[in-house]
Parts: sequence; C-alpha cells; structure tokens
Amino acid sequence: MIDIIYVERDALGYPMTERAFKALPKAEHVIIDSWEDVFYRKNQNFRLQKNSQKLILAVNRSDFLRKGSKNCQSFGADSFYYCSAVKNCICGCEYCYLQGMFGSANLLAFVNTGDCFEELRHLLKAENIGKERKMLLPVTYDNDLYTLEKVFGLVESWADFLAAEKPEGLTVEIRTKCGTKSFAEAAKRAAEYMVFTWSVAPEENIKRFEPRTSPLKSRIDAALHCAGEGLRVRLAFDPLLAVGGDWRKGYADLLTLLAETGLASKVEAAGIGGFRIPSDYLKIMRKNAPESPLAFDRYESKGGTSAYPQEKQAALCKFILQKLAESGVPREKIYVYS
Ligand code: SF4
Repeated sequence: MIDIIYVERDALGYPMTERAFKALPKAEHVIIDSWEDVFYRKNQNFRLQKNSQKLILAVNRSDFLRKGSKNCQSFGADSFYYCSAVKNCICGCEYCYLQGMFGSANLLAFVNTGDCFEELRHLLKAENIGKERKMLLPVTYDNDLYTLEKVFGLVESWADFLAAEKPEGLTVEIRTKCGTKSFAEAAKRAAEYMVFTWSVAPEENIKRFEPRTSPLKSRIDAALHCAGEGLRVRLAFDPLLAVGGDWRKGYADLLTLLAETGLASKVEAAGIGGFRIPSDYLKIMRKNAPESPLAFDRYESKGGTSAYPQEKQAALCKFILQKLAESGVPREKIYVYS
C-alpha cells in the first residue's frame, strides 16, 4: 500500500489529486516543487522501490501524446499514438521494459487530464482523423491503468471525454491484465470509441512471470462479460515467451480454453508478438534481475531492439497464428508483430 504521496504544489486542487487523496487516506502528503526532483533522483534502486512504491502527483508541462514505437502493436491503424499519463505500474512482470526505462519504480501520475484531452483535439485535426483515416491511441502504456482505477479514475475520465466528443475514427485502447469487470458500465457510453485488450498467457507463465496480476480465468471472465455488454474486446498474446521445455503445450492449452469459453469467437482482433525490448533496457534489466532466466535468454540485437533469434520468433508466431485460427479467430483479425 502506498504510504507517501509526493504532490507538486501546482498539482493541488485538481480533481484527480483530490480523488487520489481520498482513495489513499492513510498516506502522508509531502509537498514538492517539481516531480523531476523526486522521480529522477540519483542512485535510486528500482528493485527496492518496487517493494514500497510511493506516488508522485504532478502537472505535465510537456506532451501527453507521442507517436507509437515500431516495437508496439498498432493493429493496422493509419495513425498510431500513445498516451502515458501514469508512469510505472503496481504489477511486477519479469519481462516488463519499465525496469529499464526509468531509474525509479515510484508511480508518477499527471493530474492535468484536461490538457491531455485538449492536446488530443489538436492531434486529431492535424492527423486528419475521421471516416477515412483511423487512429489507435493506447492510453495504458507504462502502466496497467485499470489496476489503479480506484485511485485515479482515468478509465472513467476517458469514457466521459469520448462520450461527449464522439471523435469519429478514434479508438482509445485500454490494455490490462486485470480480472475486474466493473469498468464495463462506465465504458458503455463510449463503446464505439474504446477497445479493451486483455493480455493473455498460459497460467503457468502468469504465475511465474506476471506477479500481482489477475489469473487467466479472471481475465477471460472479465473479457467475456465486457463482450456480452457490447464492448469491443481484443486479445494480446504479447510478449510470447518460449520458455520451459514445453512452451507449445502451454499455449495450445490456452487457445483451447479461449475456444471452449467462446471468447475466441467474440474478439474483434488479436495481436501476437514475441518478446522484444530496447537493447539498452535489457542491459539494465539484467543488472536489476541477475537471477532472471528470462533476462538472460539468448536474444539478438537489431536496430537497437533485442528479441529472440529470427527463427525462434517466426516459429513462435507461426504456432500461435495457426492455433488462433483453429480456435475461431479469422486470419484477417490477427495482427502479427514480427
Ligand atoms: S502489467 Fe504491463 S506495465 Fe505492468 S508490470 Fe506488467 S507488463 Fe509492465
């Protein structure tokens, strides 16, 4: 549980700040001048901080929206941007790039959501988004936003914004490993403009590599519930991990389960991609997790990105692609990152 909230003087009074204070009533408040003084402090230890994360509430004075990286899944959109209003995550996935991205494991949340929406209005115009040209905007990069919904209410804020603006051509993606369904009601009012993407993996991978996330069964239940409520649902098999002697069986069982529960036939798309990470982040990850077999697997570095050797990557994707097709997801709905 978060016991200290660092709050910028300028961030006081924002609705999101007030909500976080209410959601974390026992946390001590420390007023600061600038989030950078805390977040970028020298000699921080990511692993130690991860066990006792603090929260920093701040005003973003720079851009909220950035062009999506070539390493990320764009689901074939014409225009691909992402929003990172909260940096760092309370889950602890062993493969997560966040371990190498920031020196700090503390949570940083920007509270001036209205400025973010204003920036988006300009971007939609500049990118000519509408009937002919579509934009995908994931808003959960660098975190799993839904795990913090009680604290920040950002899924609800996005639903409110989209329901009011009705921006043709825009899809806001909420990606999660959460088994919670409670956002379905709020999201219904903006169902056309939002998509909920569940990251799925074999249960043994979840137990081994995704601590503090929901079990597979809860994720499937939540996704089925949302699909039943008329929300757009996608699945992400990303990152695919070829670990253990029989990784094929783990994924085959997962795909069978998705077919048996009926979820495979309800998704509007699925994305697949092997494990990959910027090479610089991998170096830091190895330093932070010297005992992780995942971090020390054999990767090849190309164009600043480390990934499984091409042959292994292709075998992984081909296997999942085939199983996905067998489980009822049409090929044209499957997007492969390779
Ligand atoms: S849920 Fe996503 S953002 Fe959070 S630790 Fe896992 S991979 Fe990283």
